[in-house]
Amino acid sequence: MKTHIAFFDTKPYDSASFDSHNKDFGFEFHYYESQLNKDNAVLAQGAEVVCAFVNATIDAKVINILAKNGVKLIALRCAGFNNVDLQAAKGKIKVVRVPAYSPYAVAEHTLALMLTLNRKTHKAYSRTREGNFALHGLMGFDMHGKTIGIIGTGKIAKILIKTLCAMGMNVLAYDIYPDCDFAKETGIQYTSLDEIYKKSDIISLHCPLTKETEHLINHDSIAKMKEGVMIINTGRGKLIDTHALIKGLKSKKIGSAGLDVYEEEAEYFYEDKSDFIMSDDMLARLLSFNNVIVTSHQAFFTKEALSNIAQTTLENIKDFVEEKPLVNEVKA
Ligand code: NAD
Repeated sequence: MKTHIAFFDTKPYDSASFDSHNKDFGFEFHYYESQLNKDNAVLAQGAEVVCAFVNATIDAKVINILAKNGVKLIALRCAGFNNVDLQAAKGKIKVVRVPAYSPYAVAEHTLALMLTLNRKTHKAYSRTREGNFALHGLMGFDMHGKTIGIIGTGKIAKILIKTLCAMGMNVLAYDIYPDCDFAKETGIQYTSLDEIYKKSDIISLHCPLTKETEHLINHDSIAKMKEGVMIINTGRGKLIDTHALIKGLKSKKIGSAGLDVYEEEAEYFYEDKSDFIMSDDMLARLLSFNNVIVTSHQAFFTKEALSNIAQTTLENIKDFVEEKPLVNEVKA
């Protein structure tokens, strides 16, 4: 009998990628457009596996509904699992994820945000189309010789760091588990968070969202930063206290911000909301700054990443069905 999988938060590019990879697996897919939550979890009835994405709310209520309806596995098609109540899932439903699908995709998007904010190519693009060839307001700075602080030096950050080193930047890094061999190999320096705040011209966030890292960037940490610092977040929205960020931008303490993630993104990101009046005042304020770029959690979004996501997700499910060890299981 074929294994039935209920996919939530599915966009056409997701189904295209999963359908093409399913030729090698032969599962039965049921696609739902809405994000998994307590109101629609019952749609998974009849499926043994639920496949969800970054902004699904997989709390105790959802887990209980899924378990009651016979779901045995939650297959996250993303790396982060901060949206799953693992304690509630314990003993009821197993959870697997895709730990790495293309760290290059996220590292390259992070660099794109930095370069765009610095050299203002987004503004130049619109200007020249309007016949405006003036340069005022477009001045950037040489990144060569500047100091960048990287918080979290895992798979994504390491790729980014190598590129930044090649550009001649001084890299300061912080991680709860510093990789001293990597530091030796690249010539970067591990230091304290305070030192990063004090010395960095750019700060980029690459640690996971945990109790310890929630609102890591807040009023206090911003107060310790250099005047005009650029902040880049391609990690998770809640790493930044958005109120504090907005205050910092208004006071010009923060010179610019590149945000691929936002703490209240679930209602907006991945959806076309252009026909609606925006009710989120914080997001509206962020979008009003000409030195802020918001992208819609798209850092992962490359051909290669989508293909790897589908392949690993389906392999995770196959291992589960065949009762093999789950190499990508996440546990409480
Ligand atoms: P990774 O697990 O390889 O690296 C995370 C690093 O953070 C590790 O070295 C870990 O020791 C460190 N860390 C953990 N807690 C920390 C803390 N309190 N302070 C400092 N460092 C800490 O993960 P990765 O693949 O490099 O991904 C990093 C993050 O990027 C993910 O957690 C995810 O939230 C985010 N991400 C975003 C996108 C996107 O599309 N924007 C895509 C993939 C991943």
